[in-house]
Amino acid sequence: MSEQRQRPIEVLENRSGTRLPHHAVAGIGAGPANLSLAALGERLVPGGVHLYERRSSAAWHPGQLTEGTRLQTSWIKDLVTLVDPTNRLSFLNYLVSSGRMYSFVNAQYEEIPRLEFARYLAWAAGELDTVRYGTPVERIGHVGSGADGRFVLSGPDGPVATADHVVLGLGTRPRVPDCFRGVDFAGLVLAESLHARLRGAAVLPYQPAMVIGGGQTGAESVLELIQHGFRDIRWIGRRNWFAPMDDSPSANDFFRPTYLRFFHGLPEEVRRRYVTEQQLTSDGISLGTLQQIYQLNYETYLREGRYPVMLLPGRNVVRASERDGQIALWCERDWGGRERHAAPLVVLATGREPADLPLAPELLALTELDESGHPLLEADYSVRWKNAEHNRLYVQNRSRVGHGIADPNLSLLAVRAATILNSVLERNVYVIRDEHVSTSWA
Ligand SMILES: Cc1cc2nc3c(=O)[nH]c(=O)nc-3n(C[C@H](O)[C@H](O)[C@H](O)COP(=O)(O)OP(=O)(O)OC[C@H]3O[C@@H](n4cnc5c(N)ncnc54)[C@H](O)[C@@H]3O)c2cc1C
Repeated sequence: MSEQRQRPIEVLENRSGTRLPHHAVAGIGAGPANLSLAALGERLVPGGVHLYERRSSAAWHPGQLTEGTRLQTSWIKDLVTLVDPTNRLSFLNYLVSSGRMYSFVNAQYEEIPRLEFARYLAWAAGELDTVRYGTPVERIGHVGSGADGRFVLSGPDGPVATADHVVLGLGTRPRVPDCFRGVDFAGLVLAESLHARLRGAAVLPYQPAMVIGGGQTGAESVLELIQHGFRDIRWIGRRNWFAPMDDSPSANDFFRPTYLRFFHGLPEEVRRRYVTEQQLTSDGISLGTLQQIYQLNYETYLREGRYPVMLLPGRNVVRASERDGQIALWCERDWGGRERHAAPLVVLATGREPADLPLAPELLALTELDESGHPLLEADYSVRWKNAEHNRLYVQNRSRVGHGIADPNLSLLAVRAATILNSVLERNVYVIRDEHVSTSWA
């Protein structure tokens, strides 16, 4: 960050005439991606990294923290440890500070509860004290030019802050298949709302329920339904089997900085092919979750004489309608033909897609876009745009084809944040070490 950019700037005001805060670096969204940035940047960025978050308080996928849900990533890959294990916001420091270190160690987790990780994130956010909740940023504009330029962040009531550099960590939203877009079926529920929907609801055990989506969230929805007493669950997946996540050592090689650098230098068509081929290293079902479903199915069969879960792989739901309290689904089958299912409750666990970028049209007009209209990202996650020399805009977690299969995951949180900080500060404040590699990809 040059001296020039730290100069006081002309004061901007919000609608009530109050002077707007100005930040060297502001982040939009206070999920793990930007919390990692704020944690690693706490003592390096003048004034710290300020985060604007639309939620009213700290939360991480709050609807999906039910009993038994586990983190698919090692806790060592927390907000900071991979690049700076001495940072005060490590998971280990959280455990010691909460007084739970010994209980945690003795519980001997292979995969920690997601609830624990959510609590850790909330603790880190509280320690940072630079997160402003209840502040959605709906528009990012830019004023001035050259070294006098700055971004203007605006919410529903007008501008809230200005910043030299902005980092977007907006996360994702549920992907809804075409046949469910715009419909308002009473029995349709997104996986993230299933727990709330079932709370206090009376369940008739043999009333059917359907789960659409053959990934981890689909599997967890199936477990949630079993726990609530459902005994006729039909689980639909598009693949021809309910595929486990590949968590092998060779698969984990894709989640290291050296591979990231190799990947980024590949031609686009090779990157696209690799990301598709590598999908199950990130998007498969945890083996433990699959085993739990198969074992519950088996044991319920022993006790009750029927399986509570019928697995329906190789089906693609293409049409849906609701009548008389039943949702009817038409599925195209991999091996030809269609079949119909009906149930009063249908859970959508059909993946997630990146949230829209709130860039003002005039800013977008100065930005280089790819053929799908998305901003092109450099290796340091910065957007190529006209005033990038002075005001940089970074985007986290929406560049799988550009930056590899690890991009939207927690695995390389700290590495991404460190890369962005090195770029913002224009020097290697964090050395990202990964020298001893036994695989030669090139
Ligand atoms: C249930 C679930 C479990 C997962 N488990 C794992 C796992 O175990 N391991 C793994 O590697 N990955 C996992 N993932 C994938 C991924 O790592 C997480 O989604 C992770 O939370 C991504 O972090 P993020 O900060 O990019 O996004 P998010 O966590 O989604 O955070 C984005 C934040 O930005 C806020 N926001 C969005 N738009 C605005 C706006 N305009 N203004 C202000 N605030 C805004 C949102 O409210 C949110 O708090 C999981 C995903 C889900 C859905």
